[in-house]
Formats: sequence, C-alpha cells, structure tokens
Amino acid sequence: MKEQLEAIQEEALEKVSLVDSPKELQEIRVTYLGKKGSLTKVLKGMGKLSKEERPVIGQIANQVRDTITGALDEKAEKLERAALEQKLEEESIDVTLPGRPVRVGGPHLLTDIVEEIEDLFIGMGYEVKEGPEVETDYFNFEALNLPKNHPARDMQDTFYITNELLLRTHTSPVQARTMQEYKGEKPVKMICPGKVYRRDTDDATHSHQFTQIEGLYVDKNVRMSDLKGTLDKFAKKMFGEEREIRLRPSFFPFTEPSVEMDISCKVCHGEGCSVCKGTGWIEILGGGMVHPKVLEMAGYDPTVYSGFAFGMGPERIAMLKYGVNDIRGFYTNDVRFLKQYHKA
Ligand SMILES: [Zn+2]
Repeated sequence: MKEQLEAIQEEALEKVSLVDSPKELQEIRVTYLGKKGSLTKVLKGMGKLSKEERPVIGQIANQVRDTITGALDEKAEKLERAALEQKLEEESIDVTLPGRPVRVGGPHLLTDIVEEIEDLFIGMGYEVKEGPEVETDYFNFEALNLPKNHPARDMQDTFYITNELLLRTHTSPVQARTMQEYKGEKPVKMICPGKVYRRDTDDATHSHQFTQIEGLYVDKNVRMSDLKGTLDKFAKKMFGEEREIRLRPSFFPFTEPSVEMDISCKVCHGEGCSVCKGTGWIEILGGGMVHPKVLEMAGYDPTVYSGFAFGMGPERIAMLKYGVNDIRGFYTNDVRFLKQYHKA
C-alpha cells in the first residue's frame, strides 16, 4: 500500500509539472484528490489494514495528499502570474502614440478687444472704472444734462424698470458717478467699459445689448486739442500708424462742442470705396468737451475745470478691425465664428 501511495504521488507530481492551463490543473485535482479520486480510493481500503499498519499508512497518505495539494497550489499560482504578465505585455501602453486633442477655450473676441482698448488707455494714465447696469434715471440722464422730457432722450430708447430705475443706455453714468466720488476736488482720468441696453430690434448692425467704452478727462486747462491728440493716438495704435483721423461737428447733450471722429479707410486710403461708401472715411466714435452743466452738477467748478469725454462701441471697433459684418456674431456664441479670432 505504501508503494501504491508513492506511485500515486509520483504520477500526480509529474502531471502537475506538465500542465499549462488552470483547467487542466483542476482536472488533476479531481483525478487524485476528488471524492472518486485515486488517493481517496486507496484510503478507503485502509479498513483492511492491521491496527499497527493503519497509523503508519495513514501518515504516509496524509503526506502524499499534502504534497500533491502543495504542488497543485504552487502551479496554480505560477499559471496565474504568467497569465497576468502576458496580459500586461499585451496591453502595454505605446507612449509614442499621438494624444487625443483637448479642446481649449479662449477669451471672447469682445473681451480681447475691450482689454486691448483698456491697456491702451491705461498706458496713457487712465484708470478703469465700473458701475451698475441697473441705473437710476438721475445718473443715466439728469446728471448728464438730459432732464426729464428732454427731446434728446428719444435718441436712446430705454428699458425702464420703474419710473426711476432703468437698464443703462450708455456707460456715461459711470463718469457722473466718478466725478461725484471725487467731489470736484481732483482731476479725473478714467475709462469705463461695460454692457449697455437699448430697445433696438436686433439686425446685422443693431443689438438690444451691446458694449461701450467711454473715456473722461477732467482737469485744469484740458482743451479740444488734447482730445484730438488722444483720439489720434488711439486710432493709430488700434488700426495702424498710417491711419488719419478727422473730427466732424455733432451733437450730444453732455458735451459742448460735440464731435464725431472718423478714421481714414484702410481699403482705399481716402480714395473712396464700397467699405467707406465712397467717402474715404469711416465713423468710429463720438466725443467732445464736457458740458459745463455736467461738470457743475458733479461738483466741479466749470470756470476752473474743463474736460473731454468720448465713447465708442467695441463691437464696431472689432467689426472694423477684423472685418466682421454682423454684430449678432458676438452674441450668438457660435464657436466656429468665435474660434477664428482666438489669439494663440
Ligand atoms: Zn474706402
């Protein structure tokens, strides 16, 4: 019986050493150690042994079972490890493959233009001021020499919230607020960018909400020539050194005299073409010398202080600079449109 057991062990170990799949290994386990396995069969015959032989053979049988079990477990672990290694090998990452592109956003074209204009004026000593978009009738109109029932209020169709509250129609109220803040005691040199609202029907050149940047310079001895010099510098930096400007008389209630500024057409350089409608000039912005009444209402003595103000639409600047022909492109947020203007 001892020989029988030793033969089973030898046979089993040999088979274990030869297999290379977990399935085959499991079959060996059943063949030798299962309920109907060969080792079990031998053990069943132990009843026929003598009292002295039984413990000796029992011990050997236990050793044989432990040896076979140990061999099976060891092989199982080996196969598992080999399988894992093979899997890692097959699934290894090729670091030389090109990556998947990540979509990166960028500032909106209008944001870029506003920041460019801001930088330009900051360079000339201006500070950037902001104010509320929901404004009082007083700051939006009255403080700017537009009393109630003033006919010029018709120029700006207004979104009223109550009789006294409205969505600002221009960024000029920020100028009035800043002058009041400085109490007529010190010079003001500021620009105010921001959103404004008017009851316009949206089309290629009109939007009920758009952007404005206004500038204000109040000090002693500020003259019209200072305004012209400032705007000339702005136009050349924004549109190119070769650009010329011209001022035309105009009317705004908050400036006297008032002007509109044109820049020379970049397409025809003043000859006249379809872009400039044959005039050689393109209208860019409005401005003028601050009306003495506006200075007075804000607490500045108009016999001591004078100033100029100007206002422009960044949409218009962007349209001229980049050849955009529909203002709605700025607001419908079609990424295909906006992406064209992303700075690298
Ligand atoms: Zn032209």
